[in-house]
Amino acid sequence: MVDLLPEQTRRWQAVEAVALEHFRCAGLDEIRTPLLEFTELFARGIGEGTDVVGKEMYTFLDRGERSCTLRPEGTASVVRAAMQHGLLSQGSQKLWYGGPMFRYERPQAGRQRQFHQIGVEFLGFCSPRSDAEAISLAWDLLSDLGIKGLKLEINSLGTVEDRNRFRAELVTWLEEHVDQLDADSQARLATNPLRILDSKDRDTQLLLKEAPTLMKALSKDSVTRFEEVLALLNTLQIPYQLNPRLVRGLDYYGHTAFEITSDQLGAQATVCGGGRYDGLIQQLGGPVTPAIGWALGMERLLLVISAAAQADPDGPAARLTAAKPLFVYVINRGEQAELQALAFARQLRGAGMAVELDGTSASFGKQFKRADRSGAQWAAVIGDEEAKTRQVRLKPLLGEGEECQFNWQDATTYLMEQR
Ligand code: ATP
Ligand code: MG
Repeated sequence: MVDLLPEQTRRWQAVEAVALEHFRCAGLDEIRTPLLEFTELFARGIGEGTDVVGKEMYTFLDRGERSCTLRPEGTASVVRAAMQHGLLSQGSQKLWYGGPMFRYERPQAGRQRQFHQIGVEFLGFCSPRSDAEAISLAWDLLSDLGIKGLKLEINSLGTVEDRNRFRAELVTWLEEHVDQLDADSQARLATNPLRILDSKDRDTQLLLKEAPTLMKALSKDSVTRFEEVLALLNTLQIPYQLNPRLVRGLDYYGHTAFEITSDQLGAQATVCGGGRYDGLIQQLGGPVTPAIGWALGMERLLLVISAAAQADPDGPAARLTAAKPLFVYVINRGEQAELQALAFARQLRGAGMAVELDGTSASFGKQFKRADRSGAQWAAVIGDEEAKTRQVRLKPLLGEGEECQFNWQDATTYLMEQR
C-alpha cells in the first residue's frame, strides 16, 4: 500500500477533474459505498472460483463475528447499494464511483494491494448502444488525458449457455494438453478453466493459439449482438482489436468484455477493463436487470500519463501534470507587519488567489529568494513602514509590471485585475 505525496496528489486531482467533467457531460451521477462489505457479497457476486475471491481478498471477522471484506472492486457494492435503496425501481441508472480497492496481490509496478479505481456502471440498459456508449466514455476520457498508444481489445463471452457449452469443449481440449500447461493453469482446470485463456505464461499462451475459441461456440443471437456492438464502434470511429482469448477475471461478465491497454505499461498493461453483466443483479437477489460497466486503475493511468507527458512536453498530458503555480508570495517582517500579513493573505485567499505566506521572520533578502523560487507572479511586501499605514508593496516577480504601493483593498482589486 502506498502513500500519495503532494507531487502525486496534484496530478491525481487533475485527472479526477477531467473524469468528473466527462461524467457530468454524460449525465452520470456519483455513488459512494462503504469500503467494507459482508464477505458474502463478493463471494456470490464475483464468484468463488476467481482469483480475487479465492486468494486476493482482505477478509476478517469483526467483533460481532461477521465475516467482512475490504472491497476488492466496485461493481458488487454499487449493485448492492442500488438494490438496497430501490434505485432500480426508479428506472435505469448511470452511475460512477471512485476510490480505493484492496487485493492481496504480489506488489510490483502498476500492481498494489491498495489501489484506486474510477468506474462506471450503467444499470438497466440492454441495447448494444449502451455497450458502445459505455466504451466510448472510457475511450474519450483516456484520449482526452493525452494518452497515446491506446488499444481497445474486445470479445464476446456470450450467454451462460454459450459459456457452458464452450467450457465443456475447452476442458476436453485442455485435458488432452494438460502436461503442457503451466502449474497455475493446471490448477485452474478444475476451478475456472475459462480463465486459463487469460494466462500470462508464455508457453501456455502459445499452446492456446490452437485451442477452441469461444467465438465459434457462440449462439447466433450472441454473434448478432456482438456484431451490432462492433458496428456501432465503427460508426463512432473507435478502433478495436478482436481478442478471442479475453475473458476477464470476474465471473459475472457475459456478452461484451473489453480491455483498454497502453503500450507504455509493460506487463501490467491494462488501464481499463469492463463488460456486460446481465446476470449479476439477479444473482445478488435483485430483479433481472441488464447492465454494463468498466473500471480504470488510477495508478496505471498515472503511469501512462507521466510517460505521455515525457514524450510530449507541450501536450495535454504534460499540461495536466504541471504544478499549478502560486499567484502571490507574501513577504513580511516585524511584529505589526507579521500580524497584518496574516490578515492580508487571508483577504487575498478570500478573493480566490493562491497565496503563500512566509512564516519565517527571516531577512527580506532571504524571503525574496524564496519568493523567486516559489513561482509566484507577485510578491506582496509588508514591513514596519507599510504596517504603520496599513499599506502593502506589490512587486512583480515574473515578466513586466511596475512596483507599486496600495492600501489593502486597492491591492486586492489590483491583483485581481492582474490575474
Ligand atoms: P489484471 O489483469 O491486471 O490483474 P484485473 O482484470 O484484475 O487486472 P479489474 O478487476 O478488471 O483488473 O480492474 C480494473 C482495472 O483496475 C485494471 O485494468 C487495472 O488498471 C486496475 N487494477 C486491478 N488490480 C490492480 C492492482 N492490484 N493494482 C493496481 N491496479 C489494479
Ligand atoms: Mg487481477
